[in-house]
Amino acid sequence: MTNTQYPTPNNQKLEQLTGLTIYLNSVVEVDGSTYFLARTDEGKCLGIMGHAAGFEGERRGNVTLCPLTAANAAALREKLPWLRPQPLGLQTSAGCGDRLGIATPGHVRAVRQFSGIAPIFAQQSMRENARTGRTPQQVMDDALWGIFQEGWRQPWGADADHLKTTEDIDLCVAAGYTFFTIDPGDHVDNAVPSSKLQTPNSKFIALPWDKLEDTPDDLRRRYLGRRFEVETFTLEFDEAALLRAACKYGRAIAHTVRMYRHLAAAPPTSPTWGRDFELEMSVDETETPTSVEEHFFIASELRRLGVHWVSLAPRYVGHFEKGVDYIGDLTEFEAEIAKHAAIARVLGPYKLSIHSGSDKFSIYPIVARHTRGLVHLKTAGTSFLEALRTVAQVEPALFRGILDYAIERYPEDRATYHVSAQLSRVPAPETMSDADLPGLLDQFDARQVLHVTFGSVLDRFGGEILSVLAVHEQAYYAVLEDHFEKHLSPFAVK
Ligand SMILES: [Zn+2]
Repeated sequence: MTNTQYPTPNNQKLEQLTGLTIYLNSVVEVDGSTYFLARTDEGKCLGIMGHAAGFEGERRGNVTLCPLTAANAAALREKLPWLRPQPLGLQTSAGCGDRLGIATPGHVRAVRQFSGIAPIFAQQSMRENARTGRTPQQVMDDALWGIFQEGWRQPWGADADHLKTTEDIDLCVAAGYTFFTIDPGDHVDNAVPSSKLQTPNSKFIALPWDKLEDTPDDLRRRYLGRRFEVETFTLEFDEAALLRAACKYGRAIAHTVRMYRHLAAAPPTSPTWGRDFELEMSVDETETPTSVEEHFFIASELRRLGVHWVSLAPRYVGHFEKGVDYIGDLTEFEAEIAKHAAIARVLGPYKLSIHSGSDKFSIYPIVARHTRGLVHLKTAGTSFLEALRTVAQVEPALFRGILDYAIERYPEDRATYHVSAQLSRVPAPETMSDADLPGLLDQFDARQVLHVTFGSVLDRFGGEILSVLAVHEQAYYAVLEDHFEKHLSPFAVK
């Protein structure tokens, strides 16, 4: 668990010189000033030896000590360019959500072991921001301090996840995000009947043809009576299949185009380093799976309308429940993802994105095999669960309180999630020894209950959890490192 990337005898001398406890990987000298992250009784702070103009802080002896404020994060970002997120392109990538804002050092330690995988360290949806009481800027700054602490100097991304409105986009552009996940799920029409006999023509006529810059006849001409070769298979649309794809996804495509154009026209975040962005389109949170034909249709239409995107998240077959393994038929999943991946190569190339991607161990080898590196694995709440595992290890009494409260909240909090945990199957905490509590994080029902109640748990216990993890931060990084290694190794280039 020790991390020996950057410490040098000089860095250790810095501790003697300043009398501070320093995160040795953070130490960096730029233009004659030395910057580092220190740990004091009042918490973490940025230390600067040398010129500290532009930073808010207090001079103590030969060091300026600066609180971890947004203004100091912005000033440091200007000095150390590797603290700015950037687009990652088609490289295999992994998103690491961090609801507490303290997990990035653990993420860095895991990602460092796999040279071919680019990390997205800042990633949060508007829904998660609302539940955790954080802003896009705070999420970005928390990631920055973690990256600085560990001395990560390679490219990393920042994902403004599940954006639904242009106002969401503006907030995240202002905070410097580079990866924008457009979620047009509210505009997907799941009610379109799957039976070929019930072609909903009135819906088809009512599509927003002007926004799609299209007409029903042109659309028919582009798809009907044609054979589309996609590597080893051929796609053909009959009238019913085409109308179904258009009715289900037409409005979602129009919305994505509007969001993309808004984003492309947004002014740069910083006059000195400009803006460059990449886009993901995700329909993963919709009710019915995206068929291979529908995926082909979506990608073809987005291309026609001039959208550029780096990854796409269809709604795959089976169930991607929070915090647990894939639920579904692996043979069917493999047959589908093989075709989805072929479409992504032929109509892109772009990456297939796997949302709710944590803990889906049974599909990782399948996904890795078929995507051939064109894949983005998105995990969101798992780092929070690993925080609770750490609490269970070091403060069992607090963990018992959290679990009791999560059980109480579950019937209500589960409403916005697809989960199948049952409270009757959660082992009774009072019958368990302290030593067995961390194991509850590996029990299906307990894990899901803790996963979906995070907002309630943070409201009541957030402060206590953060204080415990501040004392035991190395233990937290160790469980995170272990957890993410298991997620990333199936995607590593062997
Ligand atoms: Zn998602």
